[in-house]
Parts: sequence; structure tokens; C-alpha cells
Amino acid sequence: MNTAGTTPGTGPLLEIEDLRVTFGSPGPRGRGRVVRAVDGVSLQVGRGRTVGLVGESGSGKSTLGRAALRLVPVRSGRVSLDGRDLTALRGRALRQARRDMQMVFQDPYSSLDPSAVIGDSIAEPLREHEGLSRRDAERRVKELLDVVGLPAGHAGRYPSEFSGGQRQRVAIARAVALNPSLVVCDEAVSALDVSTQNQVINLLEDLRARFELSYLFIAHDLAVVRHIAHEVAVMYLGHVVETGPTDRVYDSPAHPYTQALLSAIPASHPRRAGTGTRMLLSGDLPDPADPPPGCAFATRCPYAMDVCREAPPATTPVDGGGEVACHLQTSGPTLAGRTLDAAGVRAERDGSPDVVPAAVRDAP
Ligand code: SF4
Repeated sequence: MNTAGTTPGTGPLLEIEDLRVTFGSPGPRGRGRVVRAVDGVSLQVGRGRTVGLVGESGSGKSTLGRAALRLVPVRSGRVSLDGRDLTALRGRALRQARRDMQMVFQDPYSSLDPSAVIGDSIAEPLREHEGLSRRDAERRVKELLDVVGLPAGHAGRYPSEFSGGQRQRVAIARAVALNPSLVVCDEAVSALDVSTQNQVINLLEDLRARFELSYLFIAHDLAVVRHIAHEVAVMYLGHVVETGPTDRVYDSPAHPYTQALLSAIPASHPRRAGTGTRMLLSGDLPDPADPPPGCAFATRCPYAMDVCREAPPATTPVDGGGEVACHLQTSGPTLAGRTLDAAGVRAERDGSPDVVPAAVRDAP
């Protein structure tokens, strides 16, 4: 699905095409489990843009973020960064490409060595990839601490001496040390209180503008995503079911799953969208090793029809931008590969005689 809002004249920075990631194995006589964590996802992130990736826990959004950085094995499909096919890279070439793409995790402890002072943790990628001398690395660490709003004198402190928000600032300093073009933020503010969340989001925004960064911002909190994302992609059971400009998706969600997620934002929230009617989802996510046929959401969708249980919905453009995969949003029958509206065919329902343009009438 197309989410890229690119700078005019340039292509998307990150392009994911029909990506599939599976875990497990079929085992002898097919008795094993194969989990389809990411099941045919296409997605784009424009230069200097932030794409929010939302969905319930288990929807596959974190796996997609890791697969985009080649941190988990990809079964099939393609990931390109700035036109370079990352899925074709191996060994040293892949390590070098990783300079351009970094990740910020929910728990900074996962990227910071608790036994090392933070100055050494931030300097590590600088020394490894850029071969900086100790003195130059120290100078650069001070600059980076300043960039993320921490005193340079804190370089000699251990992670345990910082608050959660400060630790996340350190993790961000480390992530931007090598001037990447793409940062995947995986629930990067989810563990923080609301006021610290706002500070870290403002910092991410400043850095994006200052260094022309692009973010794939993964979060289950839709209110936070509206704050930071230019475009949004909604994931369900390994599939992207809706994409679009943030305001369009939040103000006029097209997919029933998106409508349900948005209706769960507390009514008191100032950025609450929609009519205020809560749409409760029954049941849990289906087993990703045994997904339902047809639409993956059919087992929980209040609008499910017979066709939903039989055929997966194709993606359809949405008024206002983006795409949706839902049988409710199909554009009707096609003629010579074009929708009737696009072909200029007026149906009898509006009282007009049918008019079939010659180009369509004479098509093979
Ligand atoms: Fe619901 Fe059918 Fe649309 Fe799936 S395709 S979201 S089951 S209406």
C-alpha cells in the first residue's frame, strides 16, 4: 500500500514490496507450525516523513520494523532503502548499509550496556564505523548529548543513573550518531509518562527536521501516532489493511478495524476522532499460524459478509488519500480493467441512459 509522501522529484526513502516473514517450520508431514508474522506487506516511507504503524499486539508491526532493517530473516519480498535492495545484501555490505538505518526500542536497556558509561555506548558505533580516535569520539559524544538535550558532563554516568526519559534520549543520541536516513522507533515512547512522552516526541520531531530523518514509528497508542505521523498504516494479522494521510485516516477511517481501534481512544482525549461511539471488537486475534481464509478480520468484523469469508479483499484507493483492503470499499464491477466510473459509464440508477465510451466499448 502506498503511504509515501515524498519530497517532489524524489522517490520514497524506504520501499517495502510484498514482504513476507515467517517463523517456525512445517515439520515432518506438515505437523509443525509456521507463523505468518508478515504476510505480503507493501509500504513506503517518504524522505523526511514519519509513517505511523499501528495495530494490536501480535499484528506483526514490530516484526515488520525489524524486517525492514534486516534484523530478522525475510522469507520473500523486497526492501529498498534509497533505491538500494537491502534484501540482496550480505555480510560486510549489509553491515555498511545498516549505518543508514537505526532502531530505537521501547526499553533503552536493550541497546545500552548497563555496565558501560553512556559516553562509551554512544561512542561505540562511531569508533566501529568511522574509526574515530578516542578524543574525536569524546568530542562527538558531547555534541550528540547536546543535540538530545542532555548535559555533556553526563557522558561519564551509567544508564541506571538516568530517568526513563533521559535513557531514551541517550538511546536516540546513539541511534543518530552515524547520521542515518531512517530510524525505526519501536514503541519508543510507550513506557514513558505522558509529559515525558511529549518531550521525547518533540525531540524526535526536532531531529527529523534538523537532519532530514525519516521515521517508521511503531506504536499501539493511536493518540501518540496522530501527534507525530504524516501518514499511517494499520496492521492486522500480518497484513496492512489501511493506509493514508494521518488526518484522513483519523477523521474518516475506511476499514472496520481502523474504526474499532480509533473508537477505543478515550472519549476525554482531545484528539479523539469519529462519532464517539465505541466499537467493541469481540474475540482475540486469530492464530497467525492458521489465519482464516478470505479477509483476516472476518472472524471479528461486525460487517462480515459471505464474500469476506471466501476471498481476500483487494486494495482500493480511498477518497482523501491512501488505500484500504475491505470488501465494503470495493469500487464495483470493472469493464476492460477500469471501474465503471473511471470508464465514464453512467448507470441507470441515476436516471441516465448508459453511455459506453468507444475506447471501452471496442476494447478486446
Ligand atoms: Fe469486514 Fe469484510 Fe471488510 Fe473484512 S472485508 S473488514 S470482514 S467487511
